[in-house]
Amino acid sequence: MDTAERDHRHAWATDLLDDLADRDVVAVAITWVDHSGITRVKSVPLDKLPDAAAHGVGASPVFDAFLLDDSIVSGRHAGGPVGDLRLHPDLDRITVLAGQPGWAWAPADRHDQHGDPHPQDERGLARTMADRLTVHGYEIKAGFEVEWAVGQAGTDDFRPATTGPAYGHARQVELSDYCVDLIAALAEQDVDVLQFHPEYAPGQFEVSTAPEDPVHAADTAVLVRETIRAITVRHGLRASFSPKVVADGVGNGGHLHVSLWRDGRNLFAADDRPHRLAADAESFAAGVLRHLPALCAIGCPSVASYLRLVPSHWAGAFAVWGVENREAALRLVAGRDLEIKPYDLSANPYLAVAATLAAGLAGIVDDARLPEPVGVDPAHVRHAARLPVSLEEAVRAFEDDDVLFEAFGPEFAATIADVRRGEIDRFADSTPEEIAHATRWRH
Ligand code: GLU
Ligand code: MG
Repeated sequence: MDTAERDHRHAWATDLLDDLADRDVVAVAITWVDHSGITRVKSVPLDKLPDAAAHGVGASPVFDAFLLDDSIVSGRHAGGPVGDLRLHPDLDRITVLAGQPGWAWAPADRHDQHGDPHPQDERGLARTMADRLTVHGYEIKAGFEVEWAVGQAGTDDFRPATTGPAYGHARQVELSDYCVDLIAALAEQDVDVLQFHPEYAPGQFEVSTAPEDPVHAADTAVLVRETIRAITVRHGLRASFSPKVVADGVGNGGHLHVSLWRDGRNLFAADDRPHRLAADAESFAAGVLRHLPALCAIGCPSVASYLRLVPSHWAGAFAVWGVENREAALRLVAGRDLEIKPYDLSANPYLAVAATLAAGLAGIVDDARLPEPVGVDPAHVRHAARLPVSLEEAVRAFEDDDVLFEAFGPEFAATIADVRRGEIDRFADSTPEEIAHATRWRH
């Protein structure tokens, strides 16, 4: 980053100050999501925003080696106490937080002290992969569904904050002010909500947002989650985004919807093709399908993910695709997009996007074709391939995957494996109940 770029950022942030002050902003939270899927933060008082924009805010590279319980692995390329990275707030995404009066938020790009991108920056990797698709003439639109369970505060156990039934309107009546405050807060922050509803599991809700470019979709996933958390806390409750809130229940998904566009046309809405799948969209989906076991190390990255990723729980535990099949890992929403169901919210959304795009692009380059779709619950299909049943299995698939290895680069890929193995070791002797308990309030 040269001096002119730093000056430009400084001037841009300075221009924003009056408006932010008028909106009662006192401080700006600058977040990034670490490799274990936890959103971490450094904040500056409002008057320090121009300096932060130009020079970044210091943050140790040790965060690349953090685990979900805040312990630190000594990774092959991460974990040391030496060095400094700079968090540069993306001023394009700065948002006044409706659920946290006095605060604004911006997602960070992590650079080194010279202003060069940090090779293990998650947001940068998502941008690099989106740019690769652009070079091939495609545009990607993406969006995450966010599921969470609302519990009572004052306990680390999960006690649902509402007793209403699955999809029951009663749940929305019991938590009426909470629900409406949340929808209003998201609207105030210009988050384009498509739908909001009570989900299946006790206390569970879901919100889905409109498709947007991949990096912004990941930013939105962070903003939506932190807004839910803030509104939940303001209502004296607690939000769990864990893949498995209780060991024997239905989990929280973080399904990713992706569509592929060319010349303004959605290639998942080709009128003249079976299932409305243009050839490139089919190849993209076939690429994702082929790499799904390895993608699990990114999209289902915690030990608790594998308590969720079980058959007949709508999590998509089999490496199959289907048209509107909610038990297929890849659900084709014909005429719209591809839904990747196994992903959950312990995933870093930037990495989930980046890895998915790398797999999809590899499918396009190889002209990959899809097998026949599966039209029933694959649990009843003989020889349907299970996705990894443990994080260790997923990490091995990731390590053996040349496409993802190339996309991440050797240092980043090694650190992902080191962090995952750190969490595997952390839970080596734990029961499902202990894993659910330790993961419940972390993400
Ligand atoms: N809660 C389910 C999951 O763990 C998903 C339910 C749905 O299909 O929306 O992914
Ligand atoms: Mg759902």
